[in-house]
Amino acid sequence: MDQVKSSSTVTHINDQGSRHLSQEAIEKLIQQSQEAKQHAYCPYSNFRVGAALLTMDNTVFRGCNVENACYNLGVCAERNAISKAVSEGYRSFKAIAIASDQKDQFISPCGGCRQFIREFGLNCDVYLSKTDGSHRKMTVDELLPVSFGPEELDMKKVTDGQLAGSIGEAFIPDAVSLGSAEVEGTGALDAVSLGSAEVDGTGALDAVSLGSAEVEGTGALDAVSLGSAEVEGTGALDAVSLGSAEINTSN
Ligand SMILES: [Zn+2]
Repeated sequence: MDQVKSSSTVTHINDQGSRHLSQEAIEKLIQQSQEAKQHAYCPYSNFRVGAALLTMDNTVFRGCNVENACYNLGVCAERNAISKAVSEGYRSFKAIAIASDQKDQFISPCGGCRQFIREFGLNCDVYLSKTDGSHRKMTVDELLPVSFGPEELDMKKVTDGQLAGSIGEAFIPDAVSLGSAEVEGTGALDAVSLGSAEVDGTGALDAVSLGSAEVEGTGALDAVSLGSAEVEGTGALDAVSLGSAEINTSN
């Protein structure tokens, strides 16, 4: 029978549960980050990084950087440790310690990792360390001031005009799309698309497309297309096309 082995290397640090770590706990956390660094897979940068993340219940998750021949797939130590913790059900963190081989400088998390840490709250302390274990403590807010976080998504947004921006496809009234837009709109801007636009609009701008535009418009501009335009328009400009234009205007 096959045996499934757990490779868990989770450790714990004895801490009094306070938000502020004792000196001993800080030293242990930094030591954990130095141990994590031993596993760094960084044949391209040769820049080893280790991280040790302390959860609210004093569990430590370690991570190292993992690079890839496809360079941009590389993962930083901090994100590695956080992903390990989250995948084990942890989302509240007291602190994260970071270690590298830098002797004279405190290793500082990259911008991406600052954002990644920030996702789980502004209260996590970040310990930047040198090889001798000396450290500088920083808050997430100091590392990433005026940050964008999950709370922003719940903030009030402008919905008037039902304007939608999309980089894929938009099937919504009034659209700006880099893919294709199928629009049945009544607003001021009915479709701007870099793909194709099928528009049934009544607004001021009914379709601007770099692909093809099929427009049944009644507004001031019914179609501008660099592909082909099939337009049944009643507005001031019914079709400008660099491809072919089939136009049926009633004005
Ligand atoms: Zn990073």
